Amino acid sequence: MIFENIKADDFEQIVYCQDTRVGLKAIIALHSTVLGPATGGCRMWNYSSEAEALTDVLRLSKGMTYKASMAGLKWGGGKAVIIGDAKKDKNPALLDRYAEFVDRLGGHYITAKDVGINGEDLRRIKGKTRHVLGIEGEPGSSGDPSPATALGVYHGMLSCVRQAYQAKSLKGMKIALQGLGSVSYYLLEHLTREGAQVIGCDIDRAAVERAVQKYGIEIVSPESIYDVQCDVFSPSALGASISAETLPRIRAKVIAGAANNQLATPVQGYEMMKRGLVYAPDYVINGGGLINIYYEDPIKGVYSQAQAIEHVKGIGHTVTEVLERAQQDQLPTFIVADKMAEERIEKARVAHV
Ligand code: NAD
Repeated sequence: MIFENIKADDFEQIVYCQDTRVGLKAIIALHSTVLGPATGGCRMWNYSSEAEALTDVLRLSKGMTYKASMAGLKWGGGKAVIIGDAKKDKNPALLDRYAEFVDRLGGHYITAKDVGINGEDLRRIKGKTRHVLGIEGEPGSSGDPSPATALGVYHGMLSCVRQAYQAKSLKGMKIALQGLGSVSYYLLEHLTREGAQVIGCDIDRAAVERAVQKYGIEIVSPESIYDVQCDVFSPSALGASISAETLPRIRAKVIAGAANNQLATPVQGYEMMKRGLVYAPDYVINGGGLINIYYEDPIKGVYSQAQAIEHVKGIGHTVTEVLERAQQDQLPTFIVADKMAEERIEKARVAHV
């Protein structure tokens, strides 16, 4: 039954970790190690069932394989989930045991931060395993991933407007920015420097004030952002914002933003193609943060920022490649991105054997 379930998506390894003494129940999924160690964060979440936790870790680890592949990294995809309430159930002994389980995998899985696991937790985990990345404040850390993610989104957006409007820059473009959080704050720097006109929204008043004060952007209500007359719609808040209800309202010819899992269902991906929209697949355009971490070397305690920035800028070329192939093959861009990610993995697999 289990093998039947994981066959279609070709999962390599699933590790169940338990220590009743410290209350640890964790699942580590290594979706693929073909390109390199399965890398991805650890999420601590109060799942309503073990089945829900398993579904989540499988889905997330597979997503990491595709993201790393399209980012051109020598990394595969992995993810871990700890079942429990991060506010109530997390304790040093539990993190230590989790770290020991990670260590046993001998570097085939590299852990990092996700929902419910913070920098301090990672520092604790590092006491038991060296297979951990993204510990802000540590020697060799790449720090906050948001500036790198924003840089990648900016370059991906440029590629989209080049294709949609034959424009060389974002100058004069009207951009509707949904969400004014960490990534958007850095993205605004690129957009406003280049002379784009940004109309933003956020449900958090402090985020709105910060953006208005620094960049003087126009604000609309979160509900009306979809109706803004604009050239680019940038979903940069939460997932699933492109839905059957919202897509028909979007005025822009380009959809390019930082959020994960932007499409509520695959139907919207096909619908965008039908309507002639240029859509930058989410996991391709928002890969800057992952690329950034790739240039950390926690053993030597160094982070190669210049190399990371150059690599992140390459997201622009990757997005262009996806858009061109999508046009050529008459396929939605999100399907083309998946195909390209799979082709790179298959090529590496063939080269290994
Ligand atoms: P963040 O939490 O700092 O910002 C998200 C913002 O969206 C918040 O200010 C929140 O108030 C706002 N928001 C929530 N619901 C909203 C709504 N309905 N309408 C308008 N605003 C709303 O997160 P972030 O780090 O800026 O990330 C933004 C998105 O990009 C997330 O989906 C995240 O998963 C994704 N992402 C982030 C990174 C990164 O490096 N931080 C990397 C890859 C992907």
